[in-house]
Amino acid sequence: YREWEVSRVRTTCPHCGVGCQLDLIVKGDEIVDAQAVNGPSNAGLLCVKGRSGSFDFVNSPDRITSPLVKNRETGEFEPVSWDDALALVAERFGAIKAEHGGESIAAFACSRSTNEDIYMLQKMARCAFDTPNIDNCARVCHAPTVAGLVTTLGSGAMTNSIEDVCEQAQVILLVGSNPEEAHPVMGMRIRRAVERGAKLIVVDPRDIGLASKADIHLKLRPGTNVAFANGMAHAIIAQGLADKEFVENRTEGFEEFAAMVADYTPEKVAEICGIDADDLVQAATMYAKADRAPIIYCLGVTEHSTGTEGVMSMSNMAMVCGKLGKPGCGVNPLRGQNNVQGACDMGAGPADFTGYQKVANPDVLAKFETAWGVKMNRTPGLMATECFPAMIDGRIKALFLFGEDPVRTDPDTHHVIHALESLDFLVVEELFMTETAKYADVILPGRSYAEKEGTFTNTERRVQRVRKAVKGPDGPRLDTEVFAEIMRRMGYDQPSLSASQIMEEIASLTPSYAGISHARLDGAQVAGRGIQWPCPSEDHPGTAIMHVGQFSRGKGGYSLAQYRPSAELPNAEYPLMLMTGRVLAQYNACAMTGRTEGLNEIAGESFIELNSVDAEQLGVADGDRVRVSSRRGEIETTARVSSKTNPGQTWMPFHFQDGNSNWLTNAALDPTAKVPEYKVCAVKVEAI
Ligand code: SF4
Repeated sequence: YREWEVSRVRTTCPHCGVGCQLDLIVKGDEIVDAQAVNGPSNAGLLCVKGRSGSFDFVNSPDRITSPLVKNRETGEFEPVSWDDALALVAERFGAIKAEHGGESIAAFACSRSTNEDIYMLQKMARCAFDTPNIDNCARVCHAPTVAGLVTTLGSGAMTNSIEDVCEQAQVILLVGSNPEEAHPVMGMRIRRAVERGAKLIVVDPRDIGLASKADIHLKLRPGTNVAFANGMAHAIIAQGLADKEFVENRTEGFEEFAAMVADYTPEKVAEICGIDADDLVQAATMYAKADRAPIIYCLGVTEHSTGTEGVMSMSNMAMVCGKLGKPGCGVNPLRGQNNVQGACDMGAGPADFTGYQKVANPDVLAKFETAWGVKMNRTPGLMATECFPAMIDGRIKALFLFGEDPVRTDPDTHHVIHALESLDFLVVEELFMTETAKYADVILPGRSYAEKEGTFTNTERRVQRVRKAVKGPDGPRLDTEVFAEIMRRMGYDQPSLSASQIMEEIASLTPSYAGISHARLDGAQVAGRGIQWPCPSEDHPGTAIMHVGQFSRGKGGYSLAQYRPSAELPNAEYPLMLMTGRVLAQYNACAMTGRTEGLNEIAGESFIELNSVDAEQLGVADGDRVRVSSRRGEIETTARVSSKTNPGQTWMPFHFQDGNSNWLTNAALDPTAKVPEYKVCAVKVEAI
């Protein structure tokens, strides 16, 4: 294209939580390119997903463009008018509510969509469906981050900023995170930090790319994070490296904590984790002695039946060393999807209204009931992973699913399908015919991020603008309009609001977003930089570093969690441990990135990484097809033989429909955050 033929629309990448700023290049009503711009989190960088995977899906001929209703006799979907589809949706949800109560309905929000969409979805669920069962996909990734960091620090979000941790750090402690694949621009910035002299400690069961740059790689056994962190704290305290002043002034319960970790000697932890005791002590010393040392972690910490305890044990290490509330420090979860932080912020969880205001707090409940003019359902809400068993036993009869594909992405696929088939009524609002949408009674076509105004909140709590670049295909309606229309048809008087007006309503009800508006985000003072919450007033600049001076909960509290093994360990029948994760060129279920030919050429097929020792015993060579089975199901995939994982351990990406690892994964839940244990299950691999 020639520059004078196109226009540029500044927006935010729709894939991962880094929140890179980019320009969509628009010719006519078609996006023809995407180019990096200098945003605060991306510093002019984009990864391959942002460069080439951020617009082909918008233009895709596979988009659903008409509401579809399943013909009960033929099982086929038939296009219907919006009027007919919305009448059916309102009538069926209304009838189920009248007969079984609002608590028989559930709604899952889309963590890829805008804050404004998510706010309206949860408002529809609470005000029109009268259900407390509202959740989002953080339940299967970072719910332990919210639960764990709220408990120890008082706020469940990244404490520092991407720029801060990458530019200021002297030592980076990277735990259970492969940012070069899952958060690639963050990975590039960590690599640059190492090149400018920062030391890097990688704690990961695999030889991830950054392990080759690490000063220390603790290649620990999957599921042993709590033992590792307790061992680090032991070594720090034993060497007199705890920050006594910080511990005394800013935290409480240190004596109990120190007594608890006294048992976690380097030798004992080395045995549990399968690492070298000297390496552990060296890592503890390197981390504790640095003035500026962030902990950066991801799903390798959270997606365990001990996920919440794993997160809290990250806080323990930072508190003992006084590395919170300071530049280049903190406890920094990398949230997965572009707006999963926003989905949690917007009240798409059963226990929280916007900004983590507790539903159980009578004053908060009264505030929202007054603002919304309804009396809400008092039944305690179910989390998403609790909803699936409730669908099977009949407590949940109807589900509104906005932009999520649990048949592909949730553990134990047989169980998920059984749950969806048990429903009386399933509505899916989507861009494409996903595996989950095939089970729907009604499919409503949604609008992509490039066809709407709004905001995303990235992993560092930064609220950034999403802007309309194209009109998009004829047929779909704005998601906020669809939710408002369903609310009206169900008797709740919801006016149609622009995205900017919806953000005004969010700000009016949410102290941490009170100073955020589209006008401010677009204004000269913050243009292009977004605003990091908490932002309590219109003249507040936003908060780059949290917990300066004091924690959100007052004094920081230690977790006294002991190491517990994973729920399912290998045995004679299923002798190998399976971990799952992401690859650079794809995102989640490939619904968006899978529409870009170039990305499919780089990574288009499922595979399993096998250690060469295991492969030899199994008679499997690199590139061979293998059958992988667990107690829950079996798949066929291609073996990649290497030493990336230790003997006895295997790894698979979860992106691909053919050979989807979630037929195998274990739905065992963390008891607090109810996150499933994607990162450890027992499997058998056979040559075929
Ligand atoms: Fe998009 Fe994440 Fe890549 Fe940035 S790092 S371009 S936000 S996928």
